[in-house]
Parts: sequence; structure tokens; C-alpha cells
Amino acid sequence: MQILYLLKYTNLLKRSSGWLLALFPLISVILCMMYPVVINDNFILDFRRIPFILGALYGGKWVGLIYLIVMLSYRFSLGGDGFYPTLFSFSLVTVATSIVSAHFLNLDLKKKLLVAAAMDGLVGIVSTFVSLTFFNSQIPLSMWILFSCISVIGVVLATLIYEVFINQFKLLHSVMEGQKLKVVSHLAASISHEVRNPLTVSRGFLQLIDSDLKDREKKGYMKLAINELDRATEIINDYLTFAKPYPESVDRIDIISEIKHSISVIQPLASMMNVSINSKIDLPPTYMQSEKRKFQQCLLNISKNAIEAMSEGGTLTIQVSRNENELRISIQDTGVGMTEEQLSRIGEPFFTTKEKGTGLGMMVSHSIVKAMGGELLYESKSGQGTTVHLAFQVEEMG
Ligand code: ADP
Ligand code: MG
Repeated sequence: MQILYLLKYTNLLKRSSGWLLALFPLISVILCMMYPVVINDNFILDFRRIPFILGALYGGKWVGLIYLIVMLSYRFSLGGDGFYPTLFSFSLVTVATSIVSAHFLNLDLKKKLLVAAAMDGLVGIVSTFVSLTFFNSQIPLSMWILFSCISVIGVVLATLIYEVFINQFKLLHSVMEGQKLKVVSHLAASISHEVRNPLTVSRGFLQLIDSDLKDREKKGYMKLAINELDRATEIINDYLTFAKPYPESVDRIDIISEIKHSISVIQPLASMMNVSINSKIDLPPTYMQSEKRKFQQCLLNISKNAIEAMSEGGTLTIQVSRNENELRISIQDTGVGMTEEQLSRIGEPFFTTKEKGTGLGMMVSHSIVKAMGGELLYESKSGQGTTVHLAFQVEEMG
């Protein structure tokens, strides 16, 4: 299975996926039945339920059904009374796994283990009960219980192993993706500075020519050209205002003075839009590890959104408070606010409700806050305004 996964992730075997992977637990099921634990004639047991449950939970209901059919056919051909308890308990567990398997993959590790153990326990209890009551099995109850306990431990271990190696491949994948992204973002950052100047210069000259134009059609084209240039500038602003060609080293920065600096940067935009800024930042220097420019980009994007939400003017309140090692920054506006649907989509790349928006600002801010180990929360009421809360762990007070 590991080799198959590797082939898939290195793109050598693109469509190996599902069915081929589902084959392995089935082979294990058959092997378990071919080589059971034989203590004496009456004592033949095996651990087939471990691969069975694992495969059915990860593979989904169809995989489970196929396992059931194959396993029962094989078991039937072996003969003996043991077929009926098997039929009963495994049909039951197939139904149970098919119900939970739809959500299984989204569970966290603890719950996955719990579900797998529960499924195994279910088979254990049912087959013990059926064997002892209806088929007066020669195996004593204590043996059944011991066996079931071992099986539960087995399924938990197997699930753990499977999770570990799936996660390893996910990690591998994300490292590969991350490498690509890193190259692109370095490139983008180094180009952005070079591109912004020509954009500004071109825009200036276009405007100059525009004022001399008489032809309405040409004026229309000119307006389009200027708008497109503005859009390109906007993307650079949202994305890369403070980006440097190479990542800055992570420094110990004074958050408070960075916030004050950011406020001075957005002040002109605020005045232009009739927005007054009300800041409550009376804290001593507070330090944390971060890249200065990224933090500023983040604050800039959030405050710019707040100001843009108040097209009729309003108040932007920036408040900073500290509780033990947690620093809270809230940026509140009295603007248009957001609906539930908008709230749930914010931060999605290219999600924007603005005619000239890029939908990149909040995506960038989110990733910056995440990289700083912080939290970003929105509180918003349509028509009343929005508050963005940022929370960071900071250094202990010295
Ligand atoms: P852009 O500003 O280019 O639209 P963003 O990623 O910065 O992209 O924001 C995405 C969307 O989130 C905005 O289009 C807007 O609908 C919504 N939004 C963000 N901040 C606010 C806010 N303070 N008030 C109202 N809506 C907001
Ligand atoms: Mg924005």
C-alpha cells in the first residue's frame, strides 16, 4: 500500500487510487481466513475483522459490500457452523460501517480510533453472543472476551499505522506544493516592485493623453486602459505591498509600534473617505516574533477593507488590549457589514463583493496571521458594521 501511495504521489501512477488500494485489506482478510489461529479442533479464530473494518471504513460502503460478499463466499466454501455467526455479525458491521464511513474521513484521529474500536467491539459482541447462544460453541466465554480485546487493540493499532502513513504522504505532498509556491511567491515579490513603477508612470501619461482626447470612442478605450492598470496596481497592493524579494528574517518586533505605524499609513486613505480613526492603544512595548512587513501588510489589508466598507464615511476604531500573554487587536468599522454567506466565504481566494476588488486581501491576511500562530475572527452584522479580532501569543512581560 505504501508503495502504491508513493507511486500516486509522485505522479507515476495517477489513477492508482481507490480500488487498487481497497484490494489490500481484502487480501489480508482472505489471508487471515486461510491461516487462522488453531489451538485445537474447536478453537479456530482469526483476525479478519481488522482489515475488514479498516477497509470498509476508509473505502466506503461499496468497498464494504464487496468485502462482505467475497468474505462470505469464501467462508461458506469452508463449511461448518461458524458461517452463521459470521454472516450475522459481518452483515451488521457492514451496515454500521457504511453508515459511518461517509463521515469517517473527516473525523479527527481520536474519533477515528474510537469508531474503529467500536466497530470491532460490535463484531466481537455479536459473534460471541450468536456463537454461544445458538451454536453452543466450545470456546469458553473468557476466551471470546480475551480474543475480542486483542482484536480491538489490533484494529486501533492498524488504524494508527494507516493514519501515520497517510499523513506522511500528505506531508510529502504539501512540502512539494510548498516548494512550488515558495518559488512563485519569491518571483512575484521581486517582480512586483519592478512592475509598480512602470504602472504608475503609464497611468500618468494615459491620463495626460486622455485630457486631450475629443473622440468619445477613444476616450472609452482610454478609460478601460486606466482601469486595467488600476486593477493591476490593486493586486500588487493587496498582495505584495510590503513583500520583499526574499523573506525577511523573523525578528523580535514591537507590535504596538507596528500598529501605530500602520495607522499612520492608512490615515490619508481614511481622510479621503471621510473616515475618522479612533485608536485606543495605550500599552507598553509588546514583543513577538514575526516578519515586520508581513504584519503590516495584514493590518493594512484589514483596515483598507474596513475603510472601503464605509463609503459614506464613519469611524474606524482600533483597539489593543492584553490579557496575560495574549494580545488582542480589534479593528471595528461602522460600514455595510456582511451577510452570513459573505462571512463564511471571507478569506477564500478571489472572493470579493467589490467591483474593483481582488479578493486577495483577506486570503493574504489569513495566511500571515496563521504563520504568526495567531487567530483571526470576524464579527459582523449586515448594515451595522464589522469587527475583526486578531489574537496573538506575545512574550511574557519582562
Ligand atoms: P477585496 O477587498 O479586494 O474585495 P478582500 O479579501 O480584502 O478582497 O475582502 C473580501 C471581501 O470580504 C470583500 O469584498 C468584502 O465583501 C468582505 N469584507 C472584508 N472586510 C469587510 C468589512 N470590514 N466590512 C464589510 N465587508 C468586508
Ligand atoms: Mg481588501
